[in-house]
Amino acid sequence: MFWQKEIETMEVSKLRKFQLDCINKQIALAKKSEHYKDKLSKIGELKSLEEVTKLPFTTKQDLRDSFPYGCLVTDLKNVVRMHSSSGTTGNPTVVFHTKEDLANWANISARSMYCAGARDTDIFQNTMGYGLFSGGLGFHYGGERLGMMTIPVGPGNSKRQLWFMKTFKTTVVHILPSYALRLSNTVKELGIDVKKDLYLKIFFIGAEPHSEAMRRKIEELYGVKAYNSYGLSEISGPGIAFECPYQAGLHIWEDYVYPEIVDPKTFEPLPDGQEGELVLTTLQRQAMPLMRYRTKDLTKIISEPCKCGRTHRRIARITARTDDMMIINGVNIFPIQIEKTIMGIPEAGKNYVIELFDHNCMDKLRVKIEINNDTFKGTLKDLEKLQDRLVSELKQELDVTPVVQFVEAGSLPVTEGKAKRVIDLRAKK
Ligand code: ADP
Ligand code: ZN
Repeated sequence: MFWQKEIETMEVSKLRKFQLDCINKQIALAKKSEHYKDKLSKIGELKSLEEVTKLPFTTKQDLRDSFPYGCLVTDLKNVVRMHSSSGTTGNPTVVFHTKEDLANWANISARSMYCAGARDTDIFQNTMGYGLFSGGLGFHYGGERLGMMTIPVGPGNSKRQLWFMKTFKTTVVHILPSYALRLSNTVKELGIDVKKDLYLKIFFIGAEPHSEAMRRKIEELYGVKAYNSYGLSEISGPGIAFECPYQAGLHIWEDYVYPEIVDPKTFEPLPDGQEGELVLTTLQRQAMPLMRYRTKDLTKIISEPCKCGRTHRRIARITARTDDMMIINGVNIFPIQIEKTIMGIPEAGKNYVIELFDHNCMDKLRVKIEINNDTFKGTLKDLEKLQDRLVSELKQELDVTPVVQFVEAGSLPVTEGKAKRVIDLRAKK
């Protein structure tokens, strides 16, 4: 049940004391960096965790401004690896690791996977990108640390993925939710019966926003249990927060990060239970400690005890990423609202893209959805009905009337990495 029982079930008051000690050590370390030197010069030792609010926020822009070494606190000779973020929202940011950082990261990754039920007898296929993206190597070393036979397949080449799954009897898979849906087309194409021909048990899905409906769809398609995995390269990568078998939020490893939720507009701290932007302070990082890193991910902290016995608080499924927000004629919309609606209609296809365009000086939103014979077997009239249903359900969810357009299966662009769901074709205002 536990990978590191004494840490995972640590008494809360002891855990808080541990966090305070770690934060004070991280402050002292951070003062050695170009970026924090002045910002932290007036900060002494914190006496309580409430005083964390005295620390400055750190943003992605700060990391870009201090590129490449402005946040590094140690001599380069102690650095053994660098990673960078995917660059979903602009230039990527670079992150450095010492040996100790990598060992700690492998530990929380192993802890996360163990928590979801993976064991050393499992065969682990890692379909995340290897290289600068932290998703691949992060869980690779976590998988090895746990003792699983780890297959570093990396992303893409769906037929090969399935060949590996079948040949080596893969039981555990780390995969982007968007790729899991896409891969299922190849499962069908090759006539694979997931129950008879494969040995799959557990999927770790994360690195991009996805809805509960999408998780259920993935579970149904592969006959597995899918666990939500949260992480970000600025802090290290995957393994920061993970679901336990109760799947009622993701335990955020509080010996590794100190989480806060702030109001995304005023940046004032919000109490547990209230939704806002997740802010993380690192507790163990040796190469690049970060103070109050603003993740731009919207969630809430769940502080009620979890049935599994772990004392580390949980975060709710990420509802959105603030910089993903689209404003359509003044209405705020997040892509995940569209995804949720599409996933709730089984006849609709699984791959989709959102296009924003101008029409008569107004913003318009078009959702292109792939449709194929597997998901849709009706007549042209039924297709029109399905289109009307999608428009009406999306309108109800978004408060904006979208255009829904069906396109052929496999015709939407695909990426090896995270799915690009929104294409803004509007003339810049
Ligand atoms: P980038 O910011 O360039 O995408 P990363 O590759 O480090 O950089 O991705 C981290 C981000 O991915 C997180 O801040 C979050 O927005 C998203 N993410 C990661 N895991 C999840 C998850 N389980 N659910 C929703 N979003 C996630
Ligand atoms: Zn739990």
